[in-house]
Amino acid sequence: MNGKEIIEKLKKKDIRAVARLLTLIENEDKEAEIILKKIWKATGNSYIIGITGPPGAGKGTQALRIASEFNLAHISTGDMLREHVKELTDLGKVAKSLLDEGKLVPDDLVIKMLIERLSQEDCLGGSILDGFPRTLPQAESLEKISNKFPVRKVLVFEADKEELTKRILLRGEVSGRSDDTEDSIRVRLEVYQKDTEPLINFYENKGI
Ligand code: AMP
Repeated sequence: MNGKEIIEKLKKKDIRAVARLLTLIENEDKEAEIILKKIWKATGNSYIIGITGPPGAGKGTQALRIASEFNLAHISTGDMLREHVKELTDLGKVAKSLLDEGKLVPDDLVIKMLIERLSQEDCLGGSILDGFPRTLPQAESLEKISNKFPVRKVLVFEADKEELTKRILLRGEVSGRSDDTEDSIRVRLEVYQKDTEPLINFYENKGI
């Protein structure tokens, strides 16, 4: 009985499928995890937690901690874009100079990339989005898929500008990130204030 068959049989309340699933769980079989995630999804557990805040506020570090604590998929759009740049994909070629200058990658491209990522198996049990949404159209794109992936909570990290700049410059010494420079930080802070900060109100109004 493969995973698909087990799920079909579970739907028909076939007790043999439960026994098979329990055996897979006991054997710590990867298939068990996939089936359980599908069940969680069916019960509305593919929720999203968003994490936002200015550059250097520590979003990435905290997102990783939360992901491992609650067994969520950690999705960092910044990491994904840097990977595209490294791999010289079409998206990477468009994104490179924008990343370096601290500007945002166009909404349609990031939204497409994110939606594709959410369709992967490991997101079924819930995801933490690190660095998305960053604009109103991006937040609205999540509204469109909210029946499948409801945004349950948005966490906002804050710190003052001087502290952020200091922290990013320090990080730049080890991260090797081409956007951890003084010029880029200035732009990233402006972009955050203009495009991303309004999202706090957007989610507050929704009671999230
Ligand atoms: P981060 O690693 O989150 O600081 O993101 C680094 C850079 O990737 C940003 O300055 C943007 O150029 C780009 N980026 C990451 N996430 C997004 C997003 N949601 N929308 C547009 N651009 C993004």
